[in-house]
Amino acid sequence: MSVIESLEKIRPLWLTQVSMHFARAERVREKFLEQIRVFYDLVIEAVNQGDAAVLDPLLNEWAHARTETELEQEDASSLPPIISQFLLSCFQAANQVLPESSSLELMDAVLPVFTHALEITAVQETQLHVQHIREELGEVQETLERLEKSKSDFISVAAHELKTPLTLIEGYASMLQDSLLQVKNGIPMADIYLEGVRAGNRRLREIVDDMIDVSLIDNDMLALSYQPVWLSHLMSSISHDLEDITRQRSLNLDINAFPGSREMIFGDGERLYQAIKNIISNAIKYTPDGGKIQVDGRLLPGFIEITVADTGIGIDPEDHYRIFEKFGRVGNVSLHSSGKTKFKGGGPGLGLPIAKGIIDAHGGTIWVESSGYDETNCPGSIFHIMLPIMKAPPDDKSGKLFRQLVSNG
Ligand code: ADP
Repeated sequence: MSVIESLEKIRPLWLTQVSMHFARAERVREKFLEQIRVFYDLVIEAVNQGDAAVLDPLLNEWAHARTETELEQEDASSLPPIISQFLLSCFQAANQVLPESSSLELMDAVLPVFTHALEITAVQETQLHVQHIREELGEVQETLERLEKSKSDFISVAAHELKTPLTLIEGYASMLQDSLLQVKNGIPMADIYLEGVRAGNRRLREIVDDMIDVSLIDNDMLALSYQPVWLSHLMSSISHDLEDITRQRSLNLDINAFPGSREMIFGDGERLYQAIKNIISNAIKYTPDGGKIQVDGRLLPGFIEITVADTGIGIDPEDHYRIFEKFGRVGNVSLHSSGKTKFKGGGPGLGLPIAKGIIDAHGGTIWVESSGYDETNCPGSIFHIMLPIMKAPPDDKSGKLFRQLVSNG
């Protein structure tokens, strides 16, 4: 009997043994059987031609078919052990089916083919692992570079933000010193200069407060004080507080009453005020003079959605996530100009991360919709805030207190 005939003879037993050993689920087995049939055909061809390399294309395909997850798990479905098992099953089948001499002859013929297959798969797997590790290292490197960049962006922005109020304070303080006794139009000059000192101080405090809030959010330490909140009241006071600025910039800030805005919900009123004011202040900052900002909303099952739409410069879709990250300012940091409400006034890039931190802490979500950034055509942006409708504060003690107050009142 020729070796090829022997190989054909043991084929059914080899196929059964191999498929029983590896493929447990029926669906997997069918696909797997298909593949190992091709493999066995190629083993026969390799023996026939005396060239084990005929297996290479198939082994290549198998090695590259391994997924990223498989590459991450060291030895899951590694090919060399599978090939070794194929060889073992071949020896076992030959022992069971063939006379001893044919069996020895067969082993002698297939051993170099399987050794070659083992070598090829081991080399390929090592190469793939190396490539995978190289790619992972590349990603780590990119993250490190991004971190390094955001650190130096932070230093640049923080220095700039802090410098403006400091210059104000220094300037007014020295003018104050020179002119304590001067009076202009009956007003002591000291009063005017002191107002300048106070403005610088206010801005510094805002920056420091924002930095503290971001660090509270980062460390999951933002404590909410739940109280009854009416969004309509909150919006009115934001609108009132921003009145001067919208007038100066000829902006039309339109706050609509919407279903749900007059409902009493539980939340941290001060923090919600801060979050929504940050969003509206941004809409003011990134909308050219004469533009429109519209605040609206709707009632959804279990949620209230608030939208803040502006007719401003818009945001590129690829930045829609980044702007909610700390110091996620878009554009060139060196072009940064300090100012809370001036057009494109910029800021330290903490307003949105704080707003997101506050909304997240309430169990809500925030996202932005904008077709892109275009300072000429101003496509605008719409910020969406989803707030869960809480009818009681999450912690039971204050819940009881409020229920008592409501029933007494
Ligand atoms: P900043 O202090 O820079 O305003 P924010 O965290 O409030 O920081 O916002 C991050 C970035 O998101 C801004 O620098 C700006 O590029 C972009 N952005 C936020 N709101 C708007 C908006 N309404 N229109 C256009 N761009 C916006």
